[in-house]
Amino acid sequence: MSDYYEVLGVPRDASSEQIKKAYRKLAMKYHPDVADDADSADKFKQIGEAYAVLSDPQKRQMYDLGGDPMRAGGGAGGMGGFGFPGGASGFDMGGLFDAMFGAQGQRGPRSRVRRGQDALVRLNLSLAEAAFGVTKPVRVETAVVCPSCAGKGAADGAEPQTCSTCHGQGDVQTVQRSFLGDIRTVSPCPNCRGYGTVIPNPCGECSGEGRVRNTRTINVKIPAGVSTGNRVHLDSQGEVGPGGGPAGDLYVELTVSNHEVFKRDGDNLEMVARLPMTAAALGTDVWVDTLEAEVEGTTADEARVKVSVPAGTQSGTRLVVTGRGVPRLRGSGRGDLGVTLLVQTPTSLDDTQRDLLRQLATARGESRPAATVDRGHKGFFSRLKDAFDG
Ligand SMILES: [Zn+2]
Ligand SMILES: [Zn+2]
Repeated sequence: MSDYYEVLGVPRDASSEQIKKAYRKLAMKYHPDVADDADSADKFKQIGEAYAVLSDPQKRQMYDLGGDPMRAGGGAGGMGGFGFPGGASGFDMGGLFDAMFGAQGQRGPRSRVRRGQDALVRLNLSLAEAAFGVTKPVRVETAVVCPSCAGKGAADGAEPQTCSTCHGQGDVQTVQRSFLGDIRTVSPCPNCRGYGTVIPNPCGECSGEGRVRNTRTINVKIPAGVSTGNRVHLDSQGEVGPGGGPAGDLYVELTVSNHEVFKRDGDNLEMVARLPMTAAALGTDVWVDTLEAEVEGTTADEARVKVSVPAGTQSGTRLVVTGRGVPRLRGSGRGDLGVTLLVQTPTSLDDTQRDLLRQLATARGESRPAATVDRGHKGFFSRLKDAFDG
């Protein structure tokens, strides 16, 4: 068994801080991820054992008195990913990580390079763009990597230098004497703001930030079938991080304008068409322009659709053209196009027309009709209201 103090290279009266520091340094050096020869692996194991004992006041005392805490009690317990054969019962994984990487990441120098934040832009679409998809240019203002220093933050491409105040530690320790003993306070180094390095000659363009604000235009592909509130997610198009760190994501939040003819209801499109009274009575085929007529590259067949109006169609009747609504955002197929008909009563009749209508009324026995109360058409008013609203 090797001497644990020797393994860590610390005196027998070393403080726990000294032990931790020594361990961190050695563990970094011999960690299997860094050094891959067999000797290093063995050395790393020894360092781990030594630290496990010397960082625990009870085990350290036992060791100092000549015992071997690592073998005590049969040496139960595996070490997870670190692989210490024989194990170290009670060895605290958290303590190991704290020592190597700083407690909860609070200690030690913090990196100048960090991931940037996500960004959000808003984009307004016409109903046709939302329904059938579009690729649109979007102006985005975000931080980008500083072109002068390529994100390093130093002028002339110089590397940041180790801070002379904290010697690269990122934090400084102050000790105050008191009746209760020494009070140690660890705080971020004021000279380097905790980075452990300083930039003696900061880049003029970004003031050492490594990033600058920039406005650019990117083409955003909007899938068919989106609606207000949907967001398009673009990987790594957001804010570049401090020190030129990886960019966050960009979200494009969509709003869809109202249309003067078409109203969207889920995957259906609704419209209202006016029809002369005579056509409604006799039946006819009418052509209506579809929303696709507004999309570039639409064929004549797509731009309009024939709606067959049966003879005797009442005002408020909704005719359905299947499959001519909005493409489904998730899934396949399309909704329907609903055409609600408003039968137009003729106005400003001339004498001939008035005569003809009177003849018709007489023929139908309707010369002196009584108004009949309508029952069972509750749906008509609400449908009409829906078709007109928005
Ligand atoms: Zn710069
Ligand atoms: Zn410093």
